[in-house]
This record gives sequence, C-alpha cells and structure tokens, in this order.
Amino acid sequence: MPELPEVETIARRIAPHLLTKKLQKIVVLHQKCVRGSTTLVESACVTKVLRRAKLLLIHFDNGNSLLIHLKMTGQVLYQDEKMRLGGGHPTADWIADLPSKHTRAILEFSGNSRVFFNDMRLFGWIKVVSKLQLQQELKVFAPDVISPEISSEYFFGKLQQTRRPIKIVVMDQSVAAGVGNIYANDALHLSKLHPARLANSLSRPESDAVLVALQEVIYLGIAHQGATIHSFRHIDGFAGTYQDITRVYGRDGKLCQTCRTKIKKIKLGGRGTYFCPTCQPSSKSRDTALEL
Ligand SMILES: [Zn+2]
Repeated sequence: MPELPEVETIARRIAPHLLTKKLQKIVVLHQKCVRGSTTLVESACVTKVLRRAKLLLIHFDNGNSLLIHLKMTGQVLYQDEKMRLGGGHPTADWIADLPSKHTRAILEFSGNSRVFFNDMRLFGWIKVVSKLQLQQELKVFAPDVISPEISSEYFFGKLQQTRRPIKIVVMDQSVAAGVGNIYANDALHLSKLHPARLANSLSRPESDAVLVALQEVIYLGIAHQGATIHSFRHIDGFAGTYQDITRVYGRDGKLCQTCRTKIKKIKLGGRGTYFCPTCQPSSKSRDTALEL
C-alpha cells in the first residue's frame, strides 16, 4: 500500500503537468471508484496538486477538489502526447496501452492530457468534494508526521494515552498521518525500540527518538521516490528505490546492518513486523505486548 513518500512522489511528478489545466470531463468507467458529483470540478482549472496523509489532492479554481486514495492497488498515471508519468501499485499497466481493463476513471484535461485512475482490486477511490466537504474529509487525520504540528510534547502525550504496541500506534492515522508498515518498521529499528513495546512505557527520550526516526525514514523514502515492492520490473522512471535500502522491512533472515544479528519477523496487529533482536531488545515483559 502506498504510504506518504509514494503518494508525495506522485503529487510531485504530476503537479507541474496539471497546474492551470482545465479538467474537461471525468469519464467514469466503474461507479464504485468515483464518488460525488463530477460536475463540481468539470470545466474548472487546477490550482494545486498536493498530498495530505496518504491522499492525493487536486484543487480547482472554483474552490472544489478531487481526493484520490490509492488503497492497495491504485495507480495514477498522467499521459499527454509526449510522456507518461505517475505511480502507485506497480503492474504491467504502467507501460501498457491505456485505458486498460483496470482503468476505473479518466480525467480529461486541456492540452490533450489525461490522468488514468487504475485499480485492480477496486478498493481505491476518487472523491469530488466542495471546500466544506474537504474540511470534513481531512478532519479524521492527524497532522502529517513530518509536519511541525507533530511536536515532541504532542507525540509523547499521544503515546502516554495508550497501551497498544508502539508500532501499531505510529501507524494510527489519528496520531500522526502518513506512516504505514514499511516506514514504521524501519523507524523503530532506527530508534532501537522493540515494535511490541507498549506505547505508554516509552520514556520521553524514547518517544523523541521514535518521532525523529519516523521523520528521518519518511524523508529518506521521499528522497528515494518511495518504495516499489513487486516482482514486476522493467518500469523505468516509475519505480522508487527505498525497498533497496530498508533497514529491517522485508529483510527477515538477513543480517542487521548495525550488528550482524539475523532479523526476525513476527506478526503484530496482523501485519508483518521486522526487527533486530539485538538492537531492539524486548525490555521488561510488562512493557511488551507479546511473549518473545
Ligand atoms: Zn542489530
């Protein structure tokens, strides 16, 4: 599932090509994937293309917006007469003729350019919203984890309020938005904390270390244009490279780059959880959620 760095990458790639263009029409190929009245944005011009949490936002000059959530298998692909760019779930559709059988909506812009929203599994969506609806939609998200609004005090306060494992808390979008499984695993390795440590057992310095580590791995992810984890290759220019430099994510059985201990994999909250037993020891048993 795309996380903050992957969606940020798509926004940065497509923004220069969409700004000031007029959205002429939204062609809906699968009703389930497009919500709201498309007429709210048709004939309006793009003023901004941004990311918030894991959402892609396209703002228009009439005050209305499009929200796009890629969920598990969504893709956003921009195409004009000269180029194609974008990102999301890596499949052959990245280089196939478009629309493909997974294209769920086509945004037709001026200048003969189009944005294809593809989604194999139909969990992703595009939502057309007014300014007021946009505020409502975004209210459920905490500030982005890389926003200055996520202060040391704020973060420690949130951890103090819960006995859930730290890894699950850092992925909670109402605590800090944008962190998913890849970056949560790596940030906890960087901060030398066991992923099952109970959030309220962290000291203030430990909480600070986790926050700094989360921001560091997220920025590193953005610098590497996200992670592209799939067997499908030969997709030059689209794939991110963070998967090649993960600290622990996806590296079970391999050696920790810090101490050469074998990285372990467990399940936590149903998600694959990777850690180094030496760098990230489980502390006193009362502070961890699992028997380890
Ligand atoms: Zn280690």
